Formats: sequence, structure tokens, C-alpha cells
Amino acid sequence: MTVPFYNFHDLHDEELRNQVKEMIGEIIDNNAFVEGKYNAEFEEKFAKMQGAKHCLLLANGTDALEISLLAYGIKPGDKVGVPGITFHASAEAVLNVNAEVVHIDVDPKTGLICPESTERMIKEHDLKAIIPVHIYGLNAPIAELEEVCAKYDVKIIEDSAQAQGTFYKNGKPVGSSNNLVTFSFYPTKNLGAFGDAGAILTNDDELAKKIVVIRNHGRGDDNAYGRNSRCDHMQAAVLVAKLPKIENYNLQRKEVAKKYHEALKDLSVQLLPEEYIQSSSWHLYPLQLESVALREKVQAHFKEVGIGCTPFYESALVDQKPIDKCPGEYEVARNFAGKTICLPMHPFITDEDVNFIKEEFKKVLG
Ligand SMILES: *Cc1c(COP(=O)(O)O)cnc(C)c1O
Repeated sequence: MTVPFYNFHDLHDEELRNQVKEMIGEIIDNNAFVEGKYNAEFEEKFAKMQGAKHCLLLANGTDALEISLLAYGIKPGDKVGVPGITFHASAEAVLNVNAEVVHIDVDPKTGLICPESTERMIKEHDLKAIIPVHIYGLNAPIAELEEVCAKYDVKIIEDSAQAQGTFYKNGKPVGSSNNLVTFSFYPTKNLGAFGDAGAILTNDDELAKKIVVIRNHGRGDDNAYGRNSRCDHMQAAVLVAKLPKIENYNLQRKEVAKKYHEALKDLSVQLLPEEYIQSSSWHLYPLQLESVALREKVQAHFKEVGIGCTPFYESALVDQKPIDKCPGEYEVARNFAGKTICLPMHPFITDEDVNFIKEEFKKVLG
């Protein structure tokens, strides 16, 4: 048997395919290709679902980060803090607005941004903004970060690309805070389009207005140019079609995470703390191995027996060339990177899959 990392076959079932085909037929018939009625419908429903006042659909998740930086008034040369464990787009967005990256260290158990390191980096480097990442779908410590950032007037942009379905410690959904919260709807994310799309959630009317102007070439403000980061109507239609099913799929991911935790708890691997079982969106199911060498061994074995797995992330951001000279703290991130392996995670993992993975794990770990 094999266990693929993703399962688009079951996710995009007959019913969904037919629904999307119909919607796309209608879009073609009406020549309504960009920012149509499904954009408005999705924005309204998604904002409501995540507990935010506004949702602004955009072309992709990296644009969502860049446009958040611009909306907050981040200028060339300003310093922005980014945690050491994330997909590199979190830092790329900072470079793309000509701001400078400062590395912030992470929690050794989760890879989430560390509030203490954040405060040190704010003081040392006069950060104007930070980009905490809800990495793997785990909720970053937003309440603690808000307390720190309020003291120094530092803006917070939550990179929530992996966290559709995640809840903060206060039990409310990611997106309901008073920060700018960015999403990606890249096809592999929990809620994915059939191509690229992204969004920013905000409770702030003024910021929402600014974002609307920026995403459509500055239209609506005679004094400014913007850019094109519109979300096309077909992607919005796909998101509208998928939205009603997402809550259930996220619950199924949670059940899979529980099963993995139960099955793997006696092996010599480090699982994520139990406290995240309920709050995480389980975009990914990561676990840590004792060494990089062992991770490579597990990866090779899994490849051979047909278990999809990925070492997110093989290096800390500081060891990636474009930002390896940037200052900051990164000891924990460096030690964390490379030892983490992510197991297949999607709503359709069966008990049999989990058992197979456990048995294959035992063979490599000895
Ligand atoms: C996917 C992802 C992004 C980028 O989203 P795109 O839609 O691919 O631009 C940014 N940050 C994180 C953490 C991601 O996982």
C-alpha cells in the first residue's frame, strides 16, 4: 500500500467538480472574469467564519503579506521581524517591499515564534513590524506578542497561510484579532483554490479601504499607484464552492492528528504538545527526530515504501542565501530545522494508513 502526502482525488469529488464546472460556465457566459459576485460572496462569508469585519481577496498569500506591510506604512529600510521556521515567503514579502529582515528565534518544541526573542529583537533593532507565523497550523502566541508589541508600537501581521481552521488560545478563530491576518488559498492549503488566491482579514475600516485601493492599481485614490493583486472570479467561485465543507474537513484532520499522536507516542520521536490537538488546523503533521541524519534515514525509507513525507523545513531562514547576512537570533531555529518530518495529512487518512506508517517507523527507528 502507499499513503500519499495529499489526496486531491477525494477532496475534489464528483459533486464539487460538477458544481465548479457549472459556476465557471456561468462566469464565461457572463464575461465576468475578475472581481465578480463570487468574490463578494466569499469575502462576506469568510470574514464571518473567521470572526473578522473585512476580508479582502487577493491574488496569492505572498501578496497578502506584502500588501499588509504596505497598508501598515512599512517603508524601504524599515526592519521587520520574521521567525526562523517558516516557508520563506514570510521573509520574501519583507524584501519585496525593500524592508529589512531581522531573524526572531522560535520555541524548541513547536517552531513557533518566541515572545522573549521578539522583545529582545524589537529593542535591539527598532522593529516596525513582526510577522508571527501560525506554522503547521499551530496557533502562535498572539496574546503575548500583542502585549510586547503594544509597548513599542510595533505592528503585527499574522501569516495565517497554514492556519485556516486554527483557534487562538482564547478559543476564537484565527483572523478575529485586531492585527492584519493573511491567508493563502494555494491548492495544498486547508482551504485551497484551483490555482492561486489569497486574502487579508482585518477589523479596521481604514486599513481595509487602503488594501482595496492597493490591490486594484490604486483606483480610488488619485494620489497613489497600487499594483494588481486582484483575485480572479473563477478562483473565487471555487472558494465559494469549497467553503461549506471546510469545517468538517478540518475536524477530520483533527481526528487524524489524534490517531497519529496515539499511534506514535511510544516511539522515540518528539510529537507536538497535546495542547495543540484541539486548537491547530493540522495543516501539516510534523514531528521531530533526534538528528538530521535520522530524519534523512526515515525520509529515504518512507520514500521506498510509498509513504509521502516532507522535511518542512530543511533549513532555518537564516541559512537561506537571500537573508543569511540579516541580523537577529536563530540558535533554536537552526537546531530545530532539518530534524522535522511531516507525515501525510489530509481529511481522508484511514486507521490502516496510520497503522502502516507506525509499523514502517518502527522498522527504521529499530
Ligand atoms: C503558502 C505560504 C505562503 C505563501 O502563499 P502563496 O499563496 O504561495 O503566495 C506564505 N507563508 C506561509 C507560511 C505559507 O505556508
